Amino acid sequence: MRTVAVTKIGSLRDPNESSCGRIEVVDFPRQNLGPEDVRIRVAYAAICGSDPHVAEGYFRKDVPFGLGHEVSGLVTELGERATKLALSVGDRVACNFLRFCGGCRPCLDGRQQFCEHTRDYRRPGMSEEVVWHESQVYRLPDSVSLLEGCLLEPTSIAVRIADKARIRVGDRVAICGGGPIGQLALQVLKIGGATSLTMIEPVAERREMALRAGAEHVIDPTAEDQLTRMRKLTDDRGYDLVVDASGSTRAVRGLLDLAAKGGTVLYGAMYPNDYELPLNLADYLYQRELTLTGVFVAPYAFPRAMQLLPQLQLTELTQAVFPLEDASEAFEAHLSGRHPKVVIRCNDLGDIR
Ligand SMILES: [Zn+2]
Ligand SMILES: [Zn+2]
Repeated sequence: MRTVAVTKIGSLRDPNESSCGRIEVVDFPRQNLGPEDVRIRVAYAAICGSDPHVAEGYFRKDVPFGLGHEVSGLVTELGERATKLALSVGDRVACNFLRFCGGCRPCLDGRQQFCEHTRDYRRPGMSEEVVWHESQVYRLPDSVSLLEGCLLEPTSIAVRIADKARIRVGDRVAICGGGPIGQLALQVLKIGGATSLTMIEPVAERREMALRAGAEHVIDPTAEDQLTRMRKLTDDRGYDLVVDASGSTRAVRGLLDLAAKGGTVLYGAMYPNDYELPLNLADYLYQRELTLTGVFVAPYAFPRAMQLLPQLQLTELTQAVFPLEDASEAFEAHLSGRHPKVVIRCNDLGDIR
């Protein structure tokens, strides 16, 4: 079973051959099918902004280990007790790469993102096939293609951002970072009632993409003073919600000053383990009563993400598709920033709807 795997820990951007990370296609043994499991022939698996961090050993270092958590495919086999979703062989599905056990303290406490048993089903989806528990599987609506379906997981992060931000209809919203999560969050928050919707992004193509997807304003933080623009765009009051989807340590500190009194700043990306944000508590938390929050994974968000998928503009996020055997080229393309999103075709299944 061919799987895209990290075979050497290190930065994929490191030009030094001896210390850089490596991504290769590796043959892994087929997974067993448990009674409540679903075997999926993977159609598409998208590269996530987090994958290069994973290659650096952010979560684990025991190479080789497989990648892939943004996955769509066809059901090929069902365990004898995988009956809760009335799935059939041949169904088109997308998946949550995490299995929440439902029985541990965090799961019982409404915080399944901290489930203590997710390791049992930690299986890579950037692979010819994957076996997941039926609770991880979602049937795609007829109007969503398999290619679009692999964006269910990043869309679930956008839904989770909306949940954590507790957006109210009419809230003024700024998003920093026009990568896939920023673009999807923009669309989801617009549906959620965002106004004065502003994308802060240094790359011109990504600003233009945000405008096509419904942003009302864009700011190039390298060419203009974002504080001055914010004052002009919000009558000097600031944004009720500021979302970081950039993960840039250069960008995150300045976002606090864009928030309105009583507003929320949501850090919705992955950050370096050793980065600490300087924060004046008297100013930002006492006088301005800001709420600062973040997003780890997306519990309780997948059913609503699936409801939203048919309403989202996904074409621009599904243009760069590489075959499985060209996975390392796909990662190079991802790192180049030339494409808003890079997708790997794990099997050519034709893209039936
Ligand atoms: Zn992801
Ligand atoms: Zn649990």
